[in-house]
Amino acid sequence: MKIKFSPPYVDDTVINEVVDSLKSGWITTGPKVKALEQEIKRFSSAQEVLCVNSWTSGAIMMLRWLGVQAGDEVIVPAYTYAATALAVIHAGATPVMVDIEDDFNISVDAIRNAITSKTKAIIPVDIAGFPCDYDDIISLVSEDSILALFEPTSEVQQKLGRILILNDAAHSLGAYYSENKRTGCETDIAIFSLHAVKNVTTAEGGAICLNLPAPFDNAELYKQLRQMTLNCQTKDAFSKSLNGCWRYDIMGLGMKINMPDVNAAIGLAQMRQYPALLAERKRIFNLYDTSFAKLSWAIIPPSNFKNKESSYHIYALRIKDINEQQRDDIIDEISKHEVAVNVHFIPMPMLSFFKQQGFDIANYPQSYKNYACEISLPIYPQLTNEDVNLVIDTVTDAYKKITFSK
Ligand SMILES: *Cc1c(COP(=O)(O)O)cnc(C)c1O
Repeated sequence: MKIKFSPPYVDDTVINEVVDSLKSGWITTGPKVKALEQEIKRFSSAQEVLCVNSWTSGAIMMLRWLGVQAGDEVIVPAYTYAATALAVIHAGATPVMVDIEDDFNISVDAIRNAITSKTKAIIPVDIAGFPCDYDDIISLVSEDSILALFEPTSEVQQKLGRILILNDAAHSLGAYYSENKRTGCETDIAIFSLHAVKNVTTAEGGAICLNLPAPFDNAELYKQLRQMTLNCQTKDAFSKSLNGCWRYDIMGLGMKINMPDVNAAIGLAQMRQYPALLAERKRIFNLYDTSFAKLSWAIIPPSNFKNKESSYHIYALRIKDINEQQRDDIIDEISKHEVAVNVHFIPMPMLSFFKQQGFDIANYPQSYKNYACEISLPIYPQLTNEDVNLVIDTVTDAYKKITFSK
């Protein structure tokens, strides 16, 4: 493959940080995780940040903490990576899928129509790194009629007194929601993914941002959740390793989802240079935009609107007036020229597991419309301007070849 889709960013600072962890004699959760949490906290202005071993496990834990149970509903967009809904099912609740808007993000009107007395949380997803309209969602859950509908069935739900907003920020680390305010600090909870293909990675990992309103104490909650990531054990491996500190207790049913220090080291070195890496992503995004804006058949993805600015995680190109088969043919043609592209995302109602549960793509027309003509182009700091021009030429040639032959 001449142009890969999304290789991780590994330079000498990343390698040195990992080696430093290996040589330190401490490789699981410890000082590197703490340092990474501090970096992400400072960068995103979240009140507390807790690192775990994936977005998925972090979301499951937060929904369990919320106390969802069988019959409870969590609203998610149909257009996202499957983990958004799978986490809900793992936590024991029912995902309620709603359609999206033209900009790929969850429709606030659709959320309104889907809210019932069983709704316990909403998971808006910042698709491709472009933030959702959190203000609209926050005012929606605070409306009198919606508050009156809310039926808390756990202590945490009682304390919150309304539907929880858990932002799936898997793509949006570094995006701006409002002037000078990045994602991660706007919603009750936001979770970044640090998976290998994301903007910042720890190979596998997630970062949970806590911004619960009073009377919640986010610093206290951080401690409680930290313990929950370690089987609810009163001492982590580090404190237990100290002389004479062998005794511990188990306080409840936790999970084992802590992030190891060797992993955190990768993300730590990346976070320290993330503003520069983001600027490189923006360079590539803008090169694509400039070229595709001149082509009548191309629809360029949302990146800047009012004070919102993308984290440039995915370049979601759409092509006008083509069907799903033509899109697939264009991708086949591009692949022949050794340029790796992708589709983000196959709407969940089109996946076997969700079909079996009765979800039908016919009920999500905007999701299908966006999906059927979407092609995600490579976007990462290592790409040169020549690489990007090669991608643009390859996509353009493939488009012409497929549509002219019809
Ligand atoms: C990557 C991704 C996830 C899952 O992240 P993991 O860290 O792999 O669990 C969740 N939601 C979206 C939108 C994603 O793209």
